[in-house]
Amino acid sequence: MPITVTLLSHSPDPIRSLYMAYRVCYSSLTPQQVAERIASERISREQMEAFVIERLKTGHSSPLEQVWFEFAISGVSRAFSHQFVRHRVGISFEQQSQRYVTYKGGAFPYTVPESVKRAGLEDEMASLFEEAGALYERMVEAGVPAEDARFLLPNATNTNFKVTVNFQSLLHICDLRLCTRAQWEFRRVAALMRAEVMRVEPILGRMLQPKCGEQRLGYCDESEKDWAACPIGRVRPHKDALFRLYEQYRRGELQPLRPEDYAIIEEAAPGIAGEAAPSAPVPGS
Ligand SMILES: Cc1cc2nc3c(=O)[nH]c(=O)nc-3n(C[C@H](O)[C@H](O)[C@H](O)COP(=O)(O)OP(=O)(O)OC[C@H]3O[C@@H](n4cnc5c(N)ncnc54)[C@H](O)[C@@H]3O)c2cc1C
Repeated sequence: MPITVTLLSHSPDPIRSLYMAYRVCYSSLTPQQVAERIASERISREQMEAFVIERLKTGHSSPLEQVWFEFAISGVSRAFSHQFVRHRVGISFEQQSQRYVTYKGGAFPYTVPESVKRAGLEDEMASLFEEAGALYERMVEAGVPAEDARFLLPNATNTNFKVTVNFQSLLHICDLRLCTRAQWEFRRVAALMRAEVMRVEPILGRMLQPKCGEQRLGYCDESEKDWAACPIGRVRPHKDALFRLYEQYRRGELQPLRPEDYAIIEEAAPGIAGEAAPSAPVPGS
């Protein structure tokens, strides 16, 4: 069963909600007056977007909790769901029950990871699950309740969710779960959630990045070893490199620009050395 993520519903106008939430903090107007100016188009959509984009660059994050997204998620494994439900704040879950849903004929849907297929072990996995399914069926026939028969079922068993998550929590989930250190299935789900938000509100969708994204931390805060192993490690600085640079700066070890550096600058743009950026790397910098 393929992983499917569908955006069922969301705050009716996320940008308007965010604009209202932020503007009320910074305005002498009442929220009713702000709403009236939006309704009468005295405040335009472009103005709202520009204001929200600027606020999104700040650490003022509680307004982000006022925007919500509702997703249907299907075809994920119980291995995924154990991780998903660890998120405790700003997200509400409903998950298909293995107490109230009994798998007919012991046939339960499950996920086979690509790595298992590549190892040529898919058939062995299938036959083991078939045996487990057959015993599950015998248990159910013998009167064992589904809540106990499920003790046989593997982490690979598929499950479904209906969740509602606020934007602040979704940002946090994407910070962690779009990171290449996250498990592949969670990365897939987070990427599909991002794609759904992009479809309806690209200003917010673009913010959903791994934590090293330019809209988020902008650097990697994982271990240096993990950073080095990350496929996008080379385009994101590691936090230790930034601190080392800061320490060098603090100790006055960063080389000052030399006369020959200024000569290069002058050559690049005669007369406006203070404003021009050299096109070639500056030696010793
Ligand atoms: C790569 C990776 C590997 C992992 N490996 C393991 C593992 O081996 N074993 C394991 O058990 N888990 C593991 N986890 C799960 C991890 O420990 C967290 O449980 C999970 O990521 C949820 O994250 P969170 O607590 O930040 O999120 P949320 O629960 O969504 O929390 C959101 C924010 O609120 C804060 N918060 C929430 N509740 C409280 C509180 N009561 N007090 C103060 N602050 C709070 C959180 O710190 C966070 O900043 C892993 C996660 C990742 C991404």
